[in-house]
Amino acid sequence: MHSKVIIIGSGPSGHTAAIYAARANLEPVLFEGMMAGGVAPGGQLTTTTEVENFPGFPAGITGSELTDKFREQSERFGTQIITETITRVDLSSRPFKLWREDADGDSDEPDTCDSLIVATGATAKRLNIAGEDKYWQRGMSACAVCDGAAPLFRNKPLVVIGGGDSACEEATFLTKYASHVYIAVRRDAFRASNIMAKRAINHPKITVLWNTHVIEAKGDDRVLTHVVLQDAKTKETRNLDVSGLFYAIGHTPNTAFLNGQLTTDETGYLVVKPGTSLTNVQGVFAAGDVHDKRYRQAITAAGSGCMAALDAEKYLEELEAEAQEKASKL
Ligand code: FAD
Repeated sequence: MHSKVIIIGSGPSGHTAAIYAARANLEPVLFEGMMAGGVAPGGQLTTTTEVENFPGFPAGITGSELTDKFREQSERFGTQIITETITRVDLSSRPFKLWREDADGDSDEPDTCDSLIVATGATAKRLNIAGEDKYWQRGMSACAVCDGAAPLFRNKPLVVIGGGDSACEEATFLTKYASHVYIAVRRDAFRASNIMAKRAINHPKITVLWNTHVIEAKGDDRVLTHVVLQDAKTKETRNLDVSGLFYAIGHTPNTAFLNGQLTTDETGYLVVKPGTSLTNVQGVFAAGDVHDKRYRQAITAAGSGCMAALDAEKYLEELEAEAQEKASKL
C-alpha cells in the first residue's frame, strides 16, 4: 500500500496530525499499534481515569472517552486507521518503507509513503510492585501534573518514587495539594541537579527517604492507603501511610523501531529543528511525547501533531512543485 502520509501512533499527537492531514485531502493512513510500547491504541490517556485539563470538556472526560473521540474525528475526515504495529522502517530512500508486525516478525511486503509522521509517544516507566495492578489509578499514577490535583490526593500524604530532576520537580509540584510529600530514593543521594535537589530537600512539606525501596502498594480494596518501604541496606520493612504513590522514574520514548535512522538525544527522544516538527530526514516529522520530554501533556502533544501535519503538507506541496518543474523541462 502506498500513501502520501503515514502516521505511526494513536495518541493525541497522531490523531491531531491525522485530522489536519485528512482535512487537507492527503488521505492519511494511521497505524495505531497493537499494544506497542505496552500501551493500548489511543495512547497513554487510555491508562488514566479522569482528564480535567483538556480544553473543551469543562466537566472533565475519561481518558478512554477522549481517545475514542480523537479516533472518531480522524475517521470522520477519511483517515484510514490500521490496528497494527510498525516494527521496522527504511528511511534511506524515497518512498519511505515501513514493515508491519506479523505472526513471524515483519511483513514481507513493506508499505510505502512520501512523508512520515512519527507520533509513537513515550511510555512511563513503572516498577510493577506488588499491589500495583490493583491500585493503579486508585492512588497510583505516573503523572503528578496530570493527576496531582484530583480530590483523592488533596490534603493527604503522598509518596514520589525517583531520584532525578523529575522526582524533585513532581514532589515540589505535589506540595501544592498534599499535606506532606515523601520522596523515596533508593540511594543516599539524588541524581537530580543541585538546584532541584536543594529545593526538594529544603521544602518544609517534603521529607526525603534515603536508601528506600517501595516494595508494595496496599489499600482497603478500594483505594491506596499505605505502602511498604524497605531499607536498601538493612532490608528492614515498615509501613508508610499515604493516599498517593507517583512514579517519577522516567519514560521510554518509543523510538527503538527506527533503529537509529533518526537523530535522538542520549535518552532516545527524537530531536527536531527547534520550533518545528522537522527531523534530520527530509519528509519525516515528529509529533508529541516522542520528541517532548519537557511538557508531556495531551494538549502539547495535540499541538505538535498539528505542526507535523502542516509541515508534511508543505513538504508534499514542494515535492509536487519540483516534480512539475522537472516534467515541464522534458
Ligand atoms: P501517546 O499517548 O504515548 O500515544 C502513542 C501511541 O502510539 C501509543 O498508543 C502506542 O501504542 C503507539 N505506538 C508506539 N509505537 C508504535 C509503533 N511502532 N507502531 C504503531 N503504534 C505505535 N496529559 C494531560 O494533558 N492530561 C492528563 O490528565 C493526563 N493524564 C495522564 C495520566 C497518566 C497515567 C499518564 C501516563 C499520562 C497522562 N497524561 C495526561 C499525559 C498524556 O497522556 C501524554 O502527554 C500524551 O498522551 C502524549 O501523546 P502522544 O500522542 O505523544 O503519544
